[in-house]
Amino acid sequence: MALVNVHFLNLQNNYLFADIAKKVNAYKVTHPKVDVISLGIGDVTQPLCPAVIEAMHRAADEMATREGFRGYGPEQGYDFLREAILKNDFLPRGVRLDIDEIFINDGAKSDTGNFQELLHWDDHIGMTDPVYPVYIDSNVMIGRCGSHKEDGGWSNVTYMPTTAENGFVPEIPSGRPLDIIYLCYPNNPTGTVITKAELRKWVNYALKNDALILYDAAYEAYIQDPDIPHSIYEIRGARKCAVEFHSFSKTAGFTGIRCGYTVVPKELTLSDFDGNRISANQLWLRRQCTKFNGTSYISQRAAEAIYSPEGKKQVKAVIDYYMENARLMLTTLRSLGYEVYGGENAPYIWMKTPGGKGSWQFFEEMLYTAGVVCTPGVGFGPSGEGYVRLTAFGTRENTEEALRRIKEKL
Ligand SMILES: *Cc1c(COP(=O)(O)O)cnc(C)c1O
Repeated sequence: MALVNVHFLNLQNNYLFADIAKKVNAYKVTHPKVDVISLGIGDVTQPLCPAVIEAMHRAADEMATREGFRGYGPEQGYDFLREAILKNDFLPRGVRLDIDEIFINDGAKSDTGNFQELLHWDDHIGMTDPVYPVYIDSNVMIGRCGSHKEDGGWSNVTYMPTTAENGFVPEIPSGRPLDIIYLCYPNNPTGTVITKAELRKWVNYALKNDALILYDAAYEAYIQDPDIPHSIYEIRGARKCAVEFHSFSKTAGFTGIRCGYTVVPKELTLSDFDGNRISANQLWLRRQCTKFNGTSYISQRAAEAIYSPEGKKQVKAVIDYYMENARLMLTTLRSLGYEVYGGENAPYIWMKTPGGKGSWQFFEEMLYTAGVVCTPGVGFGPSGEGYVRLTAFGTRENTEEALRRIKEKL
């Protein structure tokens, strides 16, 4: 008998964005004349930049020749891309990594989920709340989260609320020590960032408690403030306690191309029951070689092109475009009296619902009166109740039109 992995049955049925889509589609059917604008899902809208497209064309042409054809590539990724990453994303910030510490992936979502395979099922997890739902669901799948509670949380997860009240700074929990800590900065969904001093507290906590930090830096390219860390390895000691996930999805519009990378330092070790230290880098390499056959050559050449002089300029221009949307949203919404956060070093605006309304109630109000789609904050965790998320990934025209409607109709 093929018994099912019962942990999958604990997953909460409706995926947030499926719920939203259902409501939006129902509204579109009954209001066919309204041009609904989505500031909901975190997907980009601007096309790939010319340097990337040229690199992809070249790579495709190479594949068409006997000499240039490539079959299976290295599971960890091609050296040309790993070297470009070391040279451009880390060296300028004073972080020296070895090429074997970089693992090219097909996007950060898979690896933030996959990495927890290396960890004992009974490890205790802590995460900020609200949070990117993938961290929770991928752990539910192997039974690490315990049971689902009425407030939307899980019994074996320590939630560290980040709200306007605490300035979106997660507090180190005083209860049961954490074994695994998920941090995402700049944050999705709140759009807020962490200072070096605050991040240092987490690194020190992890070192002291022999905990592992899974650090998601998918939005680091959006950081504008020079004092905000782009990588956890800017903090001393982090190589001993942290894995870092990067993605070209938001950096360079790769949501449909699929490429990112994971950093697993050689100094990072995990413990077995006898206290032996096991190299996380070796385990991850073994795992990848068994279950992953690499990211496509064309995607990796595309990613490499981001680091060329033209590529850098073009990618920055697109990021500036989205950040101008964010600036417009922040200033307009503030001038209308809304309480808004984030949006200065991240493409997300985290908006407090006016009058203490629930997230879903305000979501419906925005949809039904202004024809604008946002994401209900409570979908990201219990502490997201009373907020909605707006993304700056729209086109300028749609962003301006959405703001006009919010101003006139809400
Ligand atoms: C978009 C996003 C990612 C990137 O996912 P990809 O699989 O690389 O497209 C990772 N983490 C967070 C928090 C995100 O919002």
